[in-house]
Amino acid sequence: MSTMKVNIVTPDGPVSETDANMIIAVTESGEIGILPGHIAMVAPLQIGELRLMMDDSTEHIAVNGGFLEVRPDVVTVLAQSAETASHIDIARAKMAAKRAEDALRSKTDDVDFKAMELGLKRAINRINVYGSGQ
Ligand code: ATP
Repeated sequence: MSTMKVNIVTPDGPVSETDANMIIAVTESGEIGILPGHIAMVAPLQIGELRLMMDDSTEHIAVNGGFLEVRPDVVTVLAQSAETASHIDIARAKMAAKRAEDALRSKTDDVDFKAMELGLKRAINRINVYGSGQ
């Protein structure tokens, strides 16, 4: 089966460099599947799960927004942060989810609701991706 190079990069450095048969990503306009030879494009990503399908395994990656850039021979994901399932600290993600939920419930004026909602989304995504990687 043909493959394409996939590079996932964050401001902290590369997270994953691999060859995949297919990529499934959650873009702002919905889930898309990319196969080798896909036409060039750039798409903004949601906080969501990126799946890299290989011959006999799938890598699950929690991606925090950013962009997916498809070129004929390489796909690059530029994300604010990204963690492969095996690098997710599940206790930290559960704590972050609880912290955000408590803050959203508190209804005090000094809570930045948008920031807390995004924090909760990132934490739930990490919890889900960790589960997919088990
Ligand atoms: P927290 O409140 O736990 O810091 P956060 O969503 O605010 O979570 P980010 O700002 O998205 O964290 O990420 C900061 C850095 O910490 C990034 O390098 C990210 O990959 C890493 N990170 C955040 N949460 C986790 C986690 N649960 N497991 C592993 N790495 C994490």
